[in-house]
Amino acid sequence: MSCLFCEIVAGRIPAKMAYKDDDVVAFHDINPQAPTHVLVIPRRHIPTLDDLTEADPATIGTTLVRVARIAREQNLASDGYRVIANNGEAAGQTVFHIHFHVLGGRNFGWPPG
Ligand code: 5GP
Ligand code: ZN
Repeated sequence: MSCLFCEIVAGRIPAKMAYKDDDVVAFHDINPQAPTHVLVIPRRHIPTLDDLTEADPATIGTTLVRVARIAREQNLASDGYRVIANNGEAAGQTVFHIHFHVLGGRNFGWPPG
């Protein structure tokens, strides 16, 4: 079963990289919804938040700590930014490899659509 984001992690599909380390990869969304729109993913394939187990807090915790670091590196931290995880089809998840959208460079409304 192929996964688009696993292919990007492996370098078989190109993406505009924003960050990578042993645990986490971040790249710019191909269809940006804000002046800055980065996707931050664990290297490890986990389809949805619903697939997390009690063994996974380190993976997801590391990913979120990297979200904050990447937001600082993208100069989003002072103004603020939005972090979104669409989870499941009704929420609009289209790629089933856990990812956090990091959006910044504009103001955001609430509630989201
Ligand atoms: P989701 O809809 O699952 O929350 O988010 C998936 C995101 O992946 C979408 O914002 C979509 O624009 C982005 N995306 C889909 N295919 C590609 C691709 O090939 N490259 C990049 N960089 N982003 C992609
Ligand atoms: Zn994957």
